[in-house]
Amino acid sequence: MKIVSAHEGVIPISSSMSNAFIDFSSMDCSILALVSDVVVDGKPLVGYGFNSNGRYSAGDILRRRILPRLMDAPADSLLDETGELSPSVAWDVMMRNEKPGGHGERSVAVGVVDMALHDLAAKIAGIPLYRWISDHYGDGEPDESVFVYAAGGYYAPGKTHRNLQDEMKGFLDAGYNVVKMKIGGADLAEDLRRIEAVIEVLDGDGSRLAVDVNGRFDLDTALEYGRGLDPYGLFWFEEVGDPLDYGLNATLSEHYRNPIATGENLFSLQDARNLIRYAGMRPDRDYIQVDPALSYGLVEYRRILDMLAQHGWSSRRCIPHGGHQFSLHIAASLKLGGNESYPGEFQPTGGFADDAVVENSRVALGDKPGIGLEAKANFYEVLRDLHT
Ligand code: MG
Repeated sequence: MKIVSAHEGVIPISSSMSNAFIDFSSMDCSILALVSDVVVDGKPLVGYGFNSNGRYSAGDILRRRILPRLMDAPADSLLDETGELSPSVAWDVMMRNEKPGGHGERSVAVGVVDMALHDLAAKIAGIPLYRWISDHYGDGEPDESVFVYAAGGYYAPGKTHRNLQDEMKGFLDAGYNVVKMKIGGADLAEDLRRIEAVIEVLDGDGSRLAVDVNGRFDLDTALEYGRGLDPYGLFWFEEVGDPLDYGLNATLSEHYRNPIATGENLFSLQDARNLIRYAGMRPDRDYIQVDPALSYGLVEYRRILDMLAQHGWSSRRCIPHGGHQFSLHIAASLKLGGNESYPGEFQPTGGFADDAVVENSRVALGDKPGIGLEAKANFYEVLRDLHT
């Protein structure tokens, strides 16, 4: 088995939305096709990868460092002892001559290739990725479906409370029980009014609402909001301070009783370990949101799960950021707590298969080999154009 060519590109995933920190008007994304010499039904098997939303494309790192190492390596140096394509062996090849630390955009580039390698490995085996992961790294008995919550509730010019309520009703009608909204882009009084408007739509049940600050608050504001939010018993209070300000999070967790979630902007085992060591995260209630696609891929994510287990954390406390299909497969196979979902947003990369049905806030995986991006028509068209 040999990877014969790599085709990398950049596509926009623009959106008019804003959170407390950025707008998404210029967001783009790296996409990748790895064409193999394995032919099925007259066509070569191709592994596809892309980077999750929130971080920009990483084409320069892919073209200048990561892909040349992968493509220049002897074909058999990417295989395991049974002769199967090994994403974890390939990971070491891609990271050759990279110093430790400084986990910036490099983790995005490696994550894109790691996703394509896993897609390809599962396609060669002829099985959906969640089964491949479960067989190789899990207990062989993947979850049949995955908990998903609908993320939205962004700020937009002229958006009223009624508009916000209608958006959330749309999520409930689409099969979600838990929804998420942005806060921190207005003052506390206005944000509390927005929160109460949404809770009204949730039959008064604050435990079905998560709120996301996108890392904006300083300590004083975090504590002030914490006091304001505590009575609602929210599903979680997300990324309250800067993602690397573990001291802020630790102090908040001493005062805020309900679940805290963070980790979407941590991109390595080392950063995630520091979060567990220093940020006061509580294994009985808090959530880890590291996004495998942004953080060196599944090879690194498995190291993070091992680290969490060593610190007494269940994999069920992990609900990755991003709302993409790669994490959905990981969630089902490695028994995570669920996966984010952005209904209709961040197209064409975001979301699940075109025929995926969300019921009671759970979604089942398809039976297509690999990740199954072929079952997402608009995105597949773009991916196929990379190499045909
Ligand atoms: Mg977030």
